Amino acid sequence: MDRNVKRDYESDEIIVHWDNSKCAHSGICVLGLPGVFNLNQHPWINVNGATADEIEAQVAKCPSGALTTTRKN
Ligand code: SF4
Repeated sequence: MDRNVKRDYESDEIIVHWDNSKCAHSGICVLGLPGVFNLNQHPWINVNGATADEIEAQVAKCPSGALTTTRKN
């Protein structure tokens, strides 16, 4: 994966913001919610793979701040 990539992944309910330069590669996101965070899929974040609440809760566990969310409603 490229360095210093910032991307937004958006569903009807939530936007996941991703800042690759901050990622500590702890793997917490891919282990915690593999239906959303999966390095074998492209894009690697599937915002439709879980509910917005589940995604928000998982992103809150990201230790580096690489993942953040914005709720749309
Ligand atoms: S939880 Fe955060 S720091 Fe850990 S791998 Fe995922 S994005 Fe990177």
